[in-house]
Amino acid sequence: MDINAMYEALGISRQVLDFGKEIEDSLKNRFKEIDETAEYNQMKVIKAMQDNRVSDIHFAATTGYGYNDLGRDTLEDVYAGVFHTESALVRPNLISGTHALSIALSGNLRPGDELLSPVGKPYDTLEEVIGIRDSVGSLKEYGVTYRQVDLLSDGTFDYESIGKAVNEKTKLVTIQRSKGYDTRPTFSVSQIGQLIAFIKELKPDVICMVDNCYGEFVEKMEPSDVGADMVVGSLIKNPGGGLAPIGGYIAGRADCIERASYRLSAPGLGKEVGASLGLNQSFYQGLFLSPTVVAGALKGAIFAANIYEKLGFPVVPNGSESRHDIIQAITLGSPEAVIAFCQGIQAAAPVDSFVTPEPWDMPGYDAPVIMAAGAFVQGSSIELSADGPIKPPYAVYFQGGLTWYHAKLGILKSMQKLLEAGVLKKGYTQL
Ligand SMILES: *Cc1c(COP(=O)(O)O)cnc(C)c1O
Repeated sequence: MDINAMYEALGISRQVLDFGKEIEDSLKNRFKEIDETAEYNQMKVIKAMQDNRVSDIHFAATTGYGYNDLGRDTLEDVYAGVFHTESALVRPNLISGTHALSIALSGNLRPGDELLSPVGKPYDTLEEVIGIRDSVGSLKEYGVTYRQVDLLSDGTFDYESIGKAVNEKTKLVTIQRSKGYDTRPTFSVSQIGQLIAFIKELKPDVICMVDNCYGEFVEKMEPSDVGADMVVGSLIKNPGGGLAPIGGYIAGRADCIERASYRLSAPGLGKEVGASLGLNQSFYQGLFLSPTVVAGALKGAIFAANIYEKLGFPVVPNGSESRHDIIQAITLGSPEAVIAFCQGIQAAAPVDSFVTPEPWDMPGYDAPVIMAAGAFVQGSSIELSADGPIKPPYAVYFQGGLTWYHAKLGILKSMQKLLEAGVLKKGYTQL
C-alpha cells in the first residue's frame, strides 16, 4: 500500500490530500526553523540530565511520606537546570496548571499584599483563585488585593498605566505568556523580558511570576532566562511530553520555591515530603521527549493555520506569524462547521476514534461546548485536541499532537469532514 492509499484507508480523499500536500510543501522553511529550536532544546534537556547524573535508581518508586526521594529531588534539579533557575518543585500532587499557579501565588502572598496582572485578565480558572469572581478560599478572602492593567488595543503593554499601578503594596506580578483561549496575541519571551525589566526598575523586590502554560520549548529561551522569578506550568501540557499522567511544576528563585513548597505540603515540611509513587520515570522520559513533541504540535498548528487561511477562514495566529505557544484558533463561522471540525479531530485519534463528539452544556459555560480528544491521558492538551463553544463567532481552538504525522492526519480529517458537511466556502474552486 502506498502512502496515498494509506490515507485513503483512513478516510482522506485524494483532493484533500493534494490540497494538504501543497500547503505542507510551502512550509519547508518554517518546519526547518522549528526543528532547529527542537534540537537546541533537546540538547538543553540532555545537558541538564547529564549534569545531574540521572540514573535508573531515580526511577524507583517511593511511598508514604516520601523522605529522601532521590528521584523526585533529582528531577527537580533537572527542571532547575533546564529553566536555569535556583530551584524547582515538580510534583504529581501539583495536580494541574491551575493548582501549580494557585500554590505559587498563595505561597508567596501574605495578607495586605497586592497582586498585579499587567497583561489583562488571566486564564479563566485563575479568576476564582484570585477572587476576581467571588469564591470560597480565594486570595481575596485572605486579604490579598488584586489589580489589573489591560493591554492596549493593539495587544501591547500599557506601560504608562502599569507604572501607575505598581505601588508600595505590590508584592507579586503575574504575567500569562500564552493567550490561552483569549483573542490577544501570545507574548514572546523577549517581550516578557522587557516587561519584567520595566517592572523591576520601578520596584526591584517585586516577584515576577510567569504562567508558562503551552509555551515551554516553543522558543530557545524561557521566561526564567529573562528575569522571571518563577515560571509555572502543567505536565499534561508541553513539558510532560505526553508521558506524564499528571503533575505540575514551579521553577524559580530558591526562596520563592521554598515558600510555595510550604503551601503545597505544610509549614516546616516543604519539599522534604511527597512520595512520587512510581511516576518519576514518566516525568523524566516525558521531559526528554518534550522538545520534539512540542515541535510536532507547532508544525500541526502552523499547518492548520495555513490550510484554513487558504480555505478562507480567519485564523489566529495567521499562517505566517511567528509562534510563541501551540494554540491555534480558527473562526469557522457556523455551528455545523465547528461540529464537523471537532468530529474530524476525534476520528483521527488513536484512542476513541469511533465515538462522535456532540456539543453539551458544560458547567461554567454560557453556551454548549463541543470537545474532541482521543487521548492516552485524560484531559491532556499536549495530545491532539480541539474544542469550540457553540456561539458566534463559532471559533475552534486546536492544540497538541504527540507527533507531527498525527497532527497532520487530524487536520486533514477535519477538512474532510467540513467538505463532506458542505460547509467549505462556496467558490473555492480547487475542491
Ligand atoms: C491550561 C492553562 C492553565 C491551567 O492549566 P490546567 O492544567 O488546565 O489547570 C493556566 N493558564 C494557561 C495560559 C493555560 O493554558
